[in-house]
Amino acid sequence: MDVIVIGSGAGGGASAWALSQQGINVLVLEAGPAYDPYKDYHLHQPDWELERFPDKQEHPLKYSFGEMQPLEKRYDRLRTWNHIRGLTNRSDTRIPYKYHHVQGVGGSTLHFTGEAHRLHPKAFQMRSQYGVAADWPLSYEDLENDYAKAERVVGVSGEDKFSQRPRSTDFPLPPHPASYASQKIIAHSHNTDLKWDFNSLATLSAPYEGRPGCNYCNNCGRGCPRKDKGSVDVTFLHKARLTGHCQIQSNSTVLRIISGDNDRVEGVEYIDKTGATHLVKAKVVIVACGAIETPRLLLLSDTGDGEQGLANESGLVGQNFMETLSWVSAGLHPENLGSYRGLPTDIISWSYNAPDAISNAIGGCRFAVGTSESDLAGPVNYAKRVVAGWGLAHKQKMRETFGHVLSVGSIGESLPNPNSFIALDESNKDRFGRSIAKISSFLNEGEISRLKFMANKCREVLNATGVTEIFEEYGSYDFFNSTHVFGTARMGNDPAESVVNPYCQSHRWKNLFIVDSSVFPSSGGGEAPSLTIEALAIRTARYIRQYLNS
Ligand SMILES: Cc1cc2nc3c(=O)[nH]c(=O)nc-3n(C[C@H](O)[C@H](O)[C@H](O)COP(=O)(O)OP(=O)(O)OC[C@H]3O[C@@H](n4cnc5c(N)ncnc54)[C@H](O)[C@@H]3O)c2cc1C
Ligand code: SF4
Repeated sequence: MDVIVIGSGAGGGASAWALSQQGINVLVLEAGPAYDPYKDYHLHQPDWELERFPDKQEHPLKYSFGEMQPLEKRYDRLRTWNHIRGLTNRSDTRIPYKYHHVQGVGGSTLHFTGEAHRLHPKAFQMRSQYGVAADWPLSYEDLENDYAKAERVVGVSGEDKFSQRPRSTDFPLPPHPASYASQKIIAHSHNTDLKWDFNSLATLSAPYEGRPGCNYCNNCGRGCPRKDKGSVDVTFLHKARLTGHCQIQSNSTVLRIISGDNDRVEGVEYIDKTGATHLVKAKVVIVACGAIETPRLLLLSDTGDGEQGLANESGLVGQNFMETLSWVSAGLHPENLGSYRGLPTDIISWSYNAPDAISNAIGGCRFAVGTSESDLAGPVNYAKRVVAGWGLAHKQKMRETFGHVLSVGSIGESLPNPNSFIALDESNKDRFGRSIAKISSFLNEGEISRLKFMANKCREVLNATGVTEIFEEYGSYDFFNSTHVFGTARMGNDPAESVVNPYCQSHRWKNLFIVDSSVFPSSGGGEAPSLTIEALAIRTARYIRQYLNS
């Protein structure tokens, strides 16, 4: 085999496509099952609302948490609450709710919302310009072409006049129309200092390459049953298969990467659905398991000379973990906005996205309208979270308020700190007897200042749009509930301060590459990460071809 790719999410899928279309033979090993969007997603069934993503995994991924951060009285306004249930976390520490991910062919893009963002150019220089995190060893300009390629594979819909990101090409498709709820926010934007744009989305505003346009059902997180959402299975991996050079093997968990001589790895050991183990050799191994499972797999693999922890010469595998800093405020608007339909985040504000945009904290954030992310597109959740009570009065209130929810969310920069890292949990094993990943994550003062800013702006936007009463708010202060994870195998020029070089190649192990958000030296100011992961994978694939030819 030329190349083994471990994991088939944003990084693995884009790697498989970029390599196989150059005629390189690729084997993708994926721990989770394959999903058929036409059969496995349940949006057409009466009970569609009861389940988030329809998880088919027989053995969900196990992970644990380290010590949780104490909560402080002075930050009570950042606590998660709902007007029916009160405070959601009544304890005095953060609660480890969830690391959101999907194990499956397509990885976490199967349940992603489909935002397709390029990083702010300034986000590549966080250390040299702002004294935090680390610089990326490449610039926005180095990635621009590959961003454009990834956008074409996925079929991104967006507004060409988008001024903050220099572009060499138009978006493949025009932007989606803004939903009525989003139009309300835009119409009242003069009451705040936020400017709103059409969001760039990996959901199709028109038919594209055999996939239909979106029907605005507002449920991308439950898996798109039409294949118009550009998850990796229906885009990169579909195209990779068509080359005839890519084989995708689901239900195949890689147990370890096997090291060899001359600073090269030999291949991998994996276990298939029947429980049989296999050794496969390859000229190149790419790790793309996501920023929690990638460091785990590296730490579980050995160097062949007694050292545990492959590619860990710097000691940084698992360090510099960054989670998702997020906030959502939701209220009822006096008008029926029909806010259960549309696209989850059709408009976005980049006004505070630059690393120096918020006056009292380094690091940016963005704002978006997110009814579906609040999961209030159906009556069951509505009744649980928005309208209390029983009987006729409840029915009446449901009729009066359904479709009135307006919610504004924000995602902000997360920066590394010494208390945030992924380690092996030696006292907890998976079904194969391997230590599971232990997540330790703390927010520092900068993060909390940014979160306060994000929360206040969300409230301000709701008030400016005519919402008089907020009924629910939730965010990262009192819950670990991460959808984007970063940083645990940082890229850089200096082998002492990074795990991989600018081409995602291990500094020591010349045929070992890491292509997922583990390599991000900083998280960006709330941009969704998949397009950057995909662009990096395409760039790395060109380098791997040179490596294989050398
Ligand atoms: C609710 C939600 C909404 C999101 N919305 C967006 C969005 O709008 N836009 C965006 O860009 N991002 C979004 N994200 C984030 C996005 O899904 C992830 O950032 C992205 O999928 C990460 O890609 P990855 O390749 O790093 O990892 P993943 O996509 O998680 O893929 C890793 C894969 O590796 C497999 N794997 C792990 N270990 C092994 C092993 N040992 N052997 C074999 N296989 C293994 C896993 O099963 C998994 O399939 C969202 C995430 C969530 C949870
Ligand atoms: S809103 Fe569009 S992209 Fe999302 S699940 Fe529905 S049809 Fe698919």
